[in-house]
Amino acid sequence: MPELPEVETVCRGLARVLEGRRLVRVEARRPDLRLPLPPDLAARTVGRRVAAVRRRAKYILLVLDDNTVMIAHLGMSGRMRIMAAPPAPPGRHDHVVLGTDDGTTVYFNDARRFGLMTLACAATLAEHPLLAGLGPEPLGNGFSGPVLAAALAGRDTPIKAALLDQRVVAGLGNIYACEALFRAGLSPRRKARTVQGQRSERLAKAIKAVLREAIAAGGSSLRDFVRPDGGLGYFQHRWAVYGRAGEACPGCNCDPVADGGIRRIVQSGRSSFYCARRQR
Ligand SMILES: [Zn+2]
Repeated sequence: MPELPEVETVCRGLARVLEGRRLVRVEARRPDLRLPLPPDLAARTVGRRVAAVRRRAKYILLVLDDNTVMIAHLGMSGRMRIMAAPPAPPGRHDHVVLGTDDGTTVYFNDARRFGLMTLACAATLAEHPLLAGLGPEPLGNGFSGPVLAAALAGRDTPIKAALLDQRVVAGLGNIYACEALFRAGLSPRRKARTVQGQRSERLAKAIKAVLREAIAAGGSSLRDFVRPDGGLGYFQHRWAVYGRAGEACPGCNCDPVADGGIRRIVQSGRSSFYCARRQR
């Protein structure tokens, strides 16, 4: 599943080819993804210039010059395929086609169709049902130790579950919640309400750091993003704890046999990976 850094990388890749370009072809090749595609998708977007490509949580926002916003979400398996002219013919899972005035074509490809694309208005974007309930952007100035502490106050749920609540912080996701808790030395099982003061400072900083590092890694992989199929959206990244159950912890010299190394537990149906020695 694309996580926030991958979505950010996709946005940067799309910005390179779409910003300033006029849409000359917009085609929905099926009527629905996770939500029905707007029947007037092409009518409202063809002829418009893409003023900016932005991200909110894990939503990709194409802001057009008449303040129409195309909102896209990659869901579980969505990708953006970018092709120079002439584009390869769309494949079975290329559900939306965007063509620009310089001949570039973007295919929104989604085999599992948990993704979506819809239209909104820039002036009322924050109140759009998909975006209205979202908390602060983790990389924005509106997210800090005190803001996080306030959002966690009084919550009896484990901190890991609280970090996946989109009202607390937008778009963080399971992998980066695990990685940030490791970085901050906080157990995923700790009660959310106890993460205050220095602990919330540490955690907010860790969240920003793990996301920034992953985006930097994605940005470097973007240099060769023109793969044979033009696919944008996934990159390899090395996690400190995620997916490493039974391995030695990279933060302390715990022995995987004697100390158990990285542990995996299931919280709210999601895997958490952590070092019980380092994370309290
Ligand atoms: Zn450790």
